[in-house]
Amino acid sequence: MVEKQIVIMGAGLAGLSAAVSAREKGAEVLVLESRKCVGGISVTGMGLFAVESHHQKERNLDTVFTKDDAFEFIMDRTHWQLDAKIARAYVDKSADTIEWLEDMGVHFVLMDKLTFPGEIHQTGHLVNSSKMGIGANATADLIDKLYARALSVGAEVQTEAAVTDIQKTDYGYQILYTDASGSEKTVSAKAVIITAGGYMNNDTLMKETGRGFYLNENVGAVNSIPLTGDGVRLARKLGAVPDGMELMLTSYCDGDRFPRNAETQRLWDLMMFSFPYLWVNKEGERFVNEGLMNGCYLANAIANQTDGTYYMILDHATKEKIRTEGPDIWGYLSNDIQIDMDELFDKVIEGGSKNYFRAESIEDLADQIQVPVETLKATIKRYNADCAVGYDSLFNKKRKFLRPVKEAKYYAIRRKNGSYGSVGGIRINEKAQVKAENNRIINGLYAAGDCANSMIARDTALMYSLWGSCLGFAANFGRIAGENAADYVTT
Ligand SMILES: Cc1cc2nc3c(=O)[nH]c(=O)nc-3n(C[C@H](O)[C@H](O)[C@H](O)COP(=O)(O)OP(=O)(O)OC[C@H]3O[C@@H](n4cnc5c(N)ncnc54)[C@H](O)[C@@H]3O)c2cc1C
Repeated sequence: MVEKQIVIMGAGLAGLSAAVSAREKGAEVLVLESRKCVGGISVTGMGLFAVESHHQKERNLDTVFTKDDAFEFIMDRTHWQLDAKIARAYVDKSADTIEWLEDMGVHFVLMDKLTFPGEIHQTGHLVNSSKMGIGANATADLIDKLYARALSVGAEVQTEAAVTDIQKTDYGYQILYTDASGSEKTVSAKAVIITAGGYMNNDTLMKETGRGFYLNENVGAVNSIPLTGDGVRLARKLGAVPDGMELMLTSYCDGDRFPRNAETQRLWDLMMFSFPYLWVNKEGERFVNEGLMNGCYLANAIANQTDGTYYMILDHATKEKIRTEGPDIWGYLSNDIQIDMDELFDKVIEGGSKNYFRAESIEDLADQIQVPVETLKATIKRYNADCAVGYDSLFNKKRKFLRPVKEAKYYAIRRKNGSYGSVGGIRINEKAQVKAENNRIINGLYAAGDCANSMIARDTALMYSLWGSCLGFAANFGRIAGENAADYVTT
């Protein structure tokens, strides 16, 4: 049987970071990746968390928000349920990880100002890709460079190699996988690092979130890569204790598959970051302060609604305001987003979307979106009265977002809760060692990335308020896992 020092399950950001780090310490590494290509959902992002990085130092931001501040912030937000040493290790490693990636040729940009809804401190380091600049999918560039480094330092990476089982042996572990031809293969390793990502497509694990989420029913997937939960399942089989489990919810998944081009993308961007107007649920009632700046807060409120569904509603006057002046708030993607919604509605409806509605009357709108007309009218009446006096008597939304709905045409957009993926499932310590019952360490077993991200699982809003903390966790704990596994197998 083939024997390796370390086998890594999954080649996303966590797995590749672990591979490079373990090789840098001289350990022999085999990475098994089930898909045809490396990267997992890590190729779809924009950037990652760091604090006291040289970028922040250059702007004196390290004095405004220090490592200690970040540590305190995380522990405060997780009510000290999170293992404090995990927060400390994460925060302390983060600046070095930026330089480690820069050394591979990755370029980062710190944004000029806080630009993401809910971002409280400037922790997001956005990948500035030579091919596509900054924005969605820029982390594909980071993955390219990390993968190239992994190969150049001698890590062996096998794609189309899906791990099906991991068994404990006297030597360490026996890993079973199927290769590209469908043949079953076995490799043994002294240590295993599980970096197999999330579990959103696994109904059993989804139930463990305790939130009643059903993929494609009350929550949509923002990514198109199946998250099977194999890593969590196999770690549990080896005795790993469950840990916090949550989804990386976002209020903004449209569940739409209309053709994305420069124009239609702008409508999506607009809704993503800049739509704090009237929202109603399927019963026709308001349910949230639509102007909340943390997407997770909005998402949590949406998750409580029937089918995780809601409608964004506005009238002709607000539509004209968006066309001439732009929306009231925006993410950095949408700075120049003075758009003609009529034109864009035409395009997305032509493109096959069933989620965009226009009507000459509230009755007609209620009929189209199948919301009880009398409730909708009552909701709008109260909302308009609040707008008139500039005070949201229900949820205290900021005055500047109070725009009445009173002038035809009326517009509605149906939206669903969405999720970038899942977090948590495998309990680890600050060395990324997997924990069993009674705080026992499972020797030679490590985990990192989404499948072990108990930090975000304990407070998903950290995704925004310490922006970049999902990819940040994957990179930093991937490195930590690789380094510690290398020490374990070489000493
Ligand atoms: C659209 C989108 C945008 C995002 N933007 C950001 C952002 O800007 N900043 C941020 O911090 N976070 C962002 N996130 C979240 C972030 O992408 C994830 O938290 C992070 O990529 C997780 O990395 P990972 O290595 O743990 O998992 P993944 O990247 O999912 O890698 C896991 C790998 O394991 C493989 N695998 C699974 N099962 C097996 C098996 N049985 N055998 C072998 N291999 C297996 C998978 O194929 C996959 O390649 C975003 C997510 C999405 C979907």
